[in-house]
Amino acid sequence: MAPSIHPLIDNGITKGSESFTGGTLSCLCDTDKVEVTLGSNVLHNHACGCSKCWKPEGALFSVVAVIPRDLLSVTANESKLSIVDESAAIQRHACTGCGTHLYGRIEKEHPFKGLDFVHVELSSEKGWQEPQFAAFVSSIIEQGFDPKGIDAIRGKFKSVGLETYDALSPPLMDAIATWTAQKAGKLPS
Ligand SMILES: [Zn+2]
Ligand SMILES: [Zn+2]
Repeated sequence: MAPSIHPLIDNGITKGSESFTGGTLSCLCDTDKVEVTLGSNVLHNHACGCSKCWKPEGALFSVVAVIPRDLLSVTANESKLSIVDESAAIQRHACTGCGTHLYGRIEKEHPFKGLDFVHVELSSEKGWQEPQFAAFVSSIIEQGFDPKGIDAIRGKFKSVGLETYDALSPPLMDAIATWTAQKAGKLPS
């Protein structure tokens, strides 16, 4: 059996809706679920192979997107949230009951400061932007995936219409490089 990339990708991708206006993410606890309300659809949704993003049980990749932080609010059981790693650039707020990451937030100077990172599979609503590309694909090898199987993983992404990268996508890498050049005074800001 082929390994699971992610439930939102394994059987092909369902397109999001242009008119979708947001919804609620819930953690996986049976009771007293943490709820996060998003006031719009998400942007830059993508599969991520890094070791830090939260992944559902059995999946090799996470699916993670961003949303402006002022459009995200915790609307139930916020007291169950705790930051996974205070020292990481992205502070991932996870449920202490079930381990799900409800949102990741950047507090320090960073090109993506102002954007929160979220997993739309935690919502039962339909219409969220579909995954647009796969990032940090080779990183799954660092976590123990047999490198002999990586071509099949890249092939699976291609077969559902997703480009694969070993960092972020070129537009996002360009945005980071532009921010860095502006900070260094090498480009006007
Ligand atoms: Zn939970
Ligand atoms: Zn990641």
